[in-house]
Amino acid sequence: MSTDQQPSRIQSEVRRRRTFAIISHPDAGKTTLTEKLLLFSGAIQIAGSVKARKASRHATSDWMEIEKQRGISVASSVMQMEYRDCVINLLDTPGHQDFSEDTYRVLTAVDAALMVIDAANGVEPQTRRLLQVCRARNTPILTFVNKMDREVQEPLALMDEIERELGMTVVPFTWPVGMGKHFHGVMDLRQERMRVFSPGEDRVAGTEEVLEGLNNPAYAERFGMEYGNAQGEIELVNEAAPPFDLEAFLSGSQTPMFFGSAVNNFGVQEVLDALVELAPPPAERAAMQRVVQPEEPKFTGVVFKIQANMDPAHRDRIAFLRVASGHFSRGMRLKVVRSGKELRPNTVVSFLSQRRELLDEAFAGDIIGIPNHGVLQLGDTITEGEALQYTGLPFFAPEMFRSVEVADPLKTKQLREGLRQLGEEGAIQVFRPEAGSVLLLGAVGQLQFEVVAHRLEHEYGVKARVTSARYNVARWVTCDEADGGEKELRRFIDHNAHRVAWDAVNAPTVLLEYAGELRAMQENWPKIKFHALREHA
Ligand code: GDP
Repeated sequence: MSTDQQPSRIQSEVRRRRTFAIISHPDAGKTTLTEKLLLFSGAIQIAGSVKARKASRHATSDWMEIEKQRGISVASSVMQMEYRDCVINLLDTPGHQDFSEDTYRVLTAVDAALMVIDAANGVEPQTRRLLQVCRARNTPILTFVNKMDREVQEPLALMDEIERELGMTVVPFTWPVGMGKHFHGVMDLRQERMRVFSPGEDRVAGTEEVLEGLNNPAYAERFGMEYGNAQGEIELVNEAAPPFDLEAFLSGSQTPMFFGSAVNNFGVQEVLDALVELAPPPAERAAMQRVVQPEEPKFTGVVFKIQANMDPAHRDRIAFLRVASGHFSRGMRLKVVRSGKELRPNTVVSFLSQRRELLDEAFAGDIIGIPNHGVLQLGDTITEGEALQYTGLPFFAPEMFRSVEVADPLKTKQLREGLRQLGEEGAIQVFRPEAGSVLLLGAVGQLQFEVVAHRLEHEYGVKARVTSARYNVARWVTCDEADGGEKELRRFIDHNAHRVAWDAVNAPTVLLEYAGELRAMQENWPKIKFHALREHA
């Protein structure tokens, strides 16, 4: 079947794709909500495995657990399901225990995000951090306020907090009637009806009692004071909140808000419906050479995550590709643009139903997994032959640094090889100082160091000595042609040799102890540009 002959099929497949991530602070209910979303698509077994994974994660906060679960997480980090006439790709973003740069990069592969807020705790640090990344990319955000079956904050206060903390206009689509023991349900402000809450973990969604109208006379009698309060609040909200504006939502400046209780499977379906109705299908994507439309017949994709396989003997890796355009079919001939190498993936993994099953075809928005031995790197663009390089896969300036040496000097080569591969995977950033021979590791999360030391030992047979380094700030440095280009950059590097290091792709970086030092350096070197973020090139 030639891909060229089916543009209309590609078009309709693209239009029904929704690719999103759930972002939240740990314990807000992301796992529970994921499970309920999967239940809607009828994939009951999946729910079990999400729970199982979480259970073992909870058993110990030890990072070793992550290691054990890597096999599972390859499969559960992307979930595909069908809902109504849409194909939904749900990408997992790791919680704080295994937080790393990976999370940021996953967010570059989605078209929307669902933010889960614990109604008792409001906006928490991890949510704020993840949201910043979404905001930087103008990713549309839907908000789910969870745990209304508990004694929580007043909904108006919560709404205010979200607006203030996250800098978005909040438009409530539903409004809660009561909370905790007196949680009676939610008013659906758009459909003008009330969904009555009934507790129960295994309650089947969509079976709750629905009452028509927002001002039904029976409400006051049945729901008492809570109804009166909700009515007053809704009036306030109607006066204060602007109407929902699709454009504002799509550009990430307005978020529709829903209230519910994930564990009771309440309010979940409204979110899923909104996701299908409001969240955008895959859009065009910028490459260095041109802008690519998702309906174009030729396949293109970008690697946003690399995960090492469980079997240390094989050093297999799975590259996660976000399909950006065209039609992927198994066994087709592809090209890695960076290296010019050919790729003919016959064993491409899809994540449908969480079984790692062979995939036959995929369209823009889908995530496919290609097992490989290092042919694919983070940020790689794959095409049918066109020389195209997608931009936008971010590397963040590390915030923590360690020196790394081998206990046994004879293993120096293995250490370098191991770090090279782990660096390519994005597990850690590796820096080679301009002066001196001790390698430096950079990370955004402490856990990354532990994982790397563990993997060096178990996968590469190297016992590494990881010790603290005095740096706290890193910036990539460049110099525009107009400002002296390479020559000026070289002059800067020579002057600051003791503070310059080279990263995995040989980009020069300055490493500093204090933010104050950076300011001084910027003043002294006005022609040099300092970057906190490097995009794969
Ligand atoms: P995650 O860390 O964000 O994935 O959070 P989990 O889904 O594991 O939920 C954390 C805890 O909150 C678990 O004990 C859940 O059972 C509980 N939980 C989740 N949703 C609700 C809810 O709607 N109401 C209540 N009372 N508890 C909930």
